[in-house]
Amino acid sequence: MRAALLHAVGDDKLDIRDDFTLMPVGPTDVRVKIRATGVCHSDLSVISGVLPMPLPVIPGHEGAGEVVEVGDHVTSVKPGDHVIINWTPACGTCPNCIVGQPFLCMTYVMESFSLARFRYGGETPAFGMAGCGTWAEEIVVPWQGAIKVDPEVPYEVAALIGCGITTGVGAAINTAKVKPGSTVAVIGCGGVGLSVIQGARVSGATTILAVDPLESKHALAKKVGATDACTPDKLMETIGALTGGQGFDYGFEVVGKSASIMSAWQATRRGGDVIVVGAGAMDDVVPLTAFSLLFEGKNLLSSLYGGSDVRRDFPFFANLWKAGKLDLDSMISSRIKLADLNDAVAALRGGDVLRQIVVFD
Ligand SMILES: [Zn+2]
Ligand SMILES: [Zn+2]
Repeated sequence: MRAALLHAVGDDKLDIRDDFTLMPVGPTDVRVKIRATGVCHSDLSVISGVLPMPLPVIPGHEGAGEVVEVGDHVTSVKPGDHVIINWTPACGTCPNCIVGQPFLCMTYVMESFSLARFRYGGETPAFGMAGCGTWAEEIVVPWQGAIKVDPEVPYEVAALIGCGITTGVGAAINTAKVKPGSTVAVIGCGGVGLSVIQGARVSGATTILAVDPLESKHALAKKVGATDACTPDKLMETIGALTGGQGFDYGFEVVGKSASIMSAWQATRRGGDVIVVGAGAMDDVVPLTAFSLLFEGKNLLSSLYGGSDVRRDFPFFANLWKAGKLDLDSMISSRIKLADLNDAVAALRGGDVLRQIVVFD
């Protein structure tokens, strides 16, 4: 089968080849034929090394497809079911899972660093990003990594729910618990940032400021729910104009850089919530003083995978889409083929695209 392989961090091009095979399906595994997968910023972070992964690795973690084979002990899905890939399968028994934070489960994250489920060129092992590797025609995941979805939801919409939507809408609804009538600033308007904007809109925020250096993204941000938009250099004067200088109730950082975390901090009012959604680097230190952390009264929150329990939230977000509350069609900037992935990665690096979706035949 075909897949796109990264041999080494920083490689210019992915090696798109058709000689992959999969390890056999274990008793608690599910094999999924991928039908749609997104090109997410975290995939770029794997290629650049910001997100460390074992190599060689097949990127891709935002995907949806059809179950083609299940292990003997699997009862949650059966062949033919439509599923969304969950890139943090929850084991259900570790301390994080027990306290109700399945998005922090490390069981399968750790396993993904030692278990290479792909082979190419005969017997050479290859890993899947976060244990997935959805830039492949088929993948094998633990049963908790394939969540059944209503077959009426198109695969490309389901794929978006697999990462961008859940991460962004979940950050607004689950992590920040945005209140009706509140004010929100969103720093960074890629696919996840636009999802935060939609989550804030669904939650009833009345002022939603989109901040992005690319003015081309402002119109789309407004289309999906932002009430205002500005470039980062206009942020301070916009805070003045929209909040009387007080700052916003919620400041979301959706870039993954210390500088934009500081922008979100500055945009948030005393006592407000600053929510870190972007995935940053291990050596990028946030220069917050001890004085500010206490005396400004702000809450610094982490939102990993939207603070979601995907068993509840994948169907929840699918229902929001069906009810017309989430605009996912506007977020797809192009539909491409697996063979186009190198161009898609280059386009995402350039910054001026949203979600490119690989649609499989
Ligand atoms: Zn767990
Ligand atoms: Zn992602």
